[in-house]
Amino acid sequence: MKALVKKESKPGLWLEEVPKPTIGINDVLIKVDRTGICGTDVHIYKWDDWAQKTIPVPMVVGHEFVGEIVEVGSNVADYVPGEIVSGEGHVVCGRCRNCFAGRRHLCAHTRGVGVNRPGAFAEYISLPMTNIWHHDDSIDRDVASIFDPFGNAVHTALSFDVLGEDVLITGAGPIGVMAAAVVKHAGARHVVVTDVNPYRLELAKKMGATLALDVRDNTIANAQKELGMTEGFDVGLEMSGNPVAFRDMLNNMCHGGKIAMLGIPEKEIAIDWNIVVFNMLTLKGIYGREMYETWYKMTVMLQSGLDISPIITHRFHASEFEKGFEVMMSGQSGKVILDWNE
Ligand code: NAD
Ligand code: ZN
Repeated sequence: MKALVKKESKPGLWLEEVPKPTIGINDVLIKVDRTGICGTDVHIYKWDDWAQKTIPVPMVVGHEFVGEIVEVGSNVADYVPGEIVSGEGHVVCGRCRNCFAGRRHLCAHTRGVGVNRPGAFAEYISLPMTNIWHHDDSIDRDVASIFDPFGNAVHTALSFDVLGEDVLITGAGPIGVMAAAVVKHAGARHVVVTDVNPYRLELAKKMGATLALDVRDNTIANAQKELGMTEGFDVGLEMSGNPVAFRDMLNNMCHGGKIAMLGIPEKEIAIDWNIVVFNMLTLKGIYGREMYETWYKMTVMLQSGLDISPIITHRFHASEFEKGFEVMMSGQSGKVILDWNE
């Protein structure tokens, strides 16, 4: 089968013939239909320090996908060929304290699809049945292919109660923009999204942000004034990994404000801890999605009117993957979809 492989320890990816995966008794084989390009895939493409430390070569990459089940292992009773499914990108151990307690998103031994084990940028992928999410017929196929990053947005956005609250989102990348749509859907009042990229700020507006703020020429404090806010944001969603953005956020939270942090900083960030202490802020790190409460909430919100489809701005055939990565790296995109059908 064809797959996008990190073949050599240098920048780039290679579309190669590789053996079709085989399945064990507890696994499901899926024919991949569409995939989404994630920021993680871009790190692997560029071959930065993180990727060099993390990715064994050769490796089939990618983890955002939708496809059709074509074969199931002899122990699999709950899934059948023909079903449209996505895969949870974190494969958990099932044996650690948190897994045993049903808190699988907190597994101590998480492995990443397309990172530590063969990924979804391929014609077929094999996954354990415990990683399969069955899609309801009502779910649009392109949207189904990005449930993984949509799940990051939903997990973060619903970490704290947002009904009737003012929410600050730093970073209008695909995940920040989807989070804006989610908190608006969940009943937030003002949703301010910041970035330094006008293309993405436009997308944030399209997806329901009350105010999309370019922090190069305006401050969040001014935005608060403009909106008639006096005491700061109730909830903050850090979705940039940028030190300046995080400090901006800390300075604009209300007393007792709650911050969920998804953005991955490149290195340590120094902050004024007095703000956290005296304003009694709560900081919560977010990794992945809750299995499978986040997936359930994604489905139900889409069925109850949430529309995230404007986040998908580009579509290419898998053979044109280089164009897809180029547009991702340009910053002039939302989500980029690759089609794996012949
Ligand atoms: P992205 O890199 O596309 O978006 C980040 C955005 O932040 C960019 O648009 C960038 O222009 C913006 N930004 C830069 N400086 C800024 C500043 N000073 N103020 C405001 N915005 C600024 O990333 P994404 O795919 O949307 O993901 C969001 C973040 O979440 C990334 O850091 C990513 O690595 C991380 N992530 C974490 C998890 C997890 O499980 N914790 C999963 C997926 C992604
Ligand atoms: Zn575990």
